[in-house]
Amino acid sequence: MRRRVLVLGGTAEARELAGVLDDLGIAVVTSLAGRVRRPRLPAGDVRVGGFGGPKSMADWLLREAIAGVVDATHPFAERISASAAAACPAAGVPLLRLQRPSWHAGPGDDWHWVADLDEAAVAVPRLGRRVLLTTGRQGLASFAQIDDAWFLVRCVDQPSPPLPANHTLLLDRGPYTRAGELALIDGHHIDLVVTKDSGGDLTRAKLDAARDRDLPVIIVRRPRRPILPEVATVEGATDWALRLTQAG
Ligand code: NAP
Repeated sequence: MRRRVLVLGGTAEARELAGVLDDLGIAVVTSLAGRVRRPRLPAGDVRVGGFGGPKSMADWLLREAIAGVVDATHPFAERISASAAAACPAAGVPLLRLQRPSWHAGPGDDWHWVADLDEAAVAVPRLGRRVLLTTGRQGLASFAQIDDAWFLVRCVDQPSPPLPANHTLLLDRGPYTRAGELALIDGHHIDLVVTKDSGGDLTRAKLDAARDRDLPVIIVRRPRRPILPEVATVEGATDWALRLTQAG
């Protein structure tokens, strides 16, 4: 069997990496959690669904003759990253993380950093009444008890309850433009934006638009993930995969 690179996906970078590796003739399989109803599929092979924990992932890596793993999951995907960090050494398979850099506030930004979604919910009533909430489908229960603010909840797929008491749901997926975000903010009289520190350019337009309108932003810090060799770009991950597969 040809030795393949496994990309742990669910991000635009993972999809791009799979495309580049496939173009270069490197056999690639992308793993998706299976959360999104109609995912944009990458080039190469795709497997969908959890592995069943680190031990099962290690078995899978050996069975599938995987040459190396790139953890290109979202910076907030804690469990799959922890699984990979345990499974790869157990299977003797090299592991690299591809992670976009954090966002950093610039002049004119009014950002309020918080540790998690619960802390974000505590900060909301102090900072705004009409909230653009872009933290994703999971964890919305943190905001369910707030009844003195209205939320425009934007996510890719339908979230499960509990949801904020007063909300409108907007199902959409990026990339977003600054003009589009300004129209959304103005059209809904948004006075506060709540986001995770996802990083990257695809979803940062809301931060630029918030600055344009002097709006505060509550921004959730990234969770700690296991320390790994890391690159910030698809090019960096491609070089690593090329070295690995050419050496193998
Ligand atoms: P998570 O909490 O780290 O993962 C929960 C479980 O889902 C994992 O233990 C694993 O199951 C399975 N899983 C997650 N990602 C997987 C993958 N790429 N391939 C196979 N199984 C996977 O992850 P999450 O935060 O729910 O995110 C799920 C996916 O959505 C990730 O792939 C991530 O890149 C993407 N995503 C997440 C966010 C976010 O804000 N969290 C945002 C955008 C995209 P087993 O233990 O059974 O292996």
